[in-house]
Amino acid sequence: MADAEKGMVHIYTGCGKGKSTAAFGLAMRCAGNGGRVFVIQFQKSRPCGELVSAAKLGIEVTRCTSGRGSGRCASSCPLLSAAYDIFKNKDADLVILDEVMAALKHGCVALPDMTALLSARPFGTELVMTGRNAPEELVERADLVTEMIKIKHYYDKGRAAKRGIEF
Ligand SMILES: [Zn+2]
Repeated sequence: MADAEKGMVHIYTGCGKGKSTAAFGLAMRCAGNGGRVFVIQFQKSRPCGELVSAAKLGIEVTRCTSGRGSGRCASSCPLLSAAYDIFKNKDADLVILDEVMAALKHGCVALPDMTALLSARPFGTELVMTGRNAPEELVERADLVTEMIKIKHYYDKGRAAKRGIEF
């Protein structure tokens, strides 16, 4: 795809379901248009359906090897340098930093490192960040911010996460 147009910075945040789902929907759309798509998943180590689907679509997904699934993985998550590498070498059309807000919350990604990463983004690369409680500094830097609001969620009635729907 042509890189002539400026890539936008998106944030999908809020407490409702749909943030990562929206990001993967965009990934599908971009890949379907011939775009090069890279997903970096913070705080996720369980197998999930989107990994299998992404591979079929040629979407590269990178996860944290020192991650335990959730919580703090290291003083500085190695996924940050993976993101820099993609920005520098992969000519990416779309990069998704899935659950990066959780990594910020747990302290394995520092806010100054995130703002530096935003500054390193190539002109034509669209960037999506997901997760609850997006910090104001990142919201200010974004071009599009969507907050998913929970009106109802079956978790509150004790329904467990279901294969194919939550993972
Ligand atoms: Zn990590």
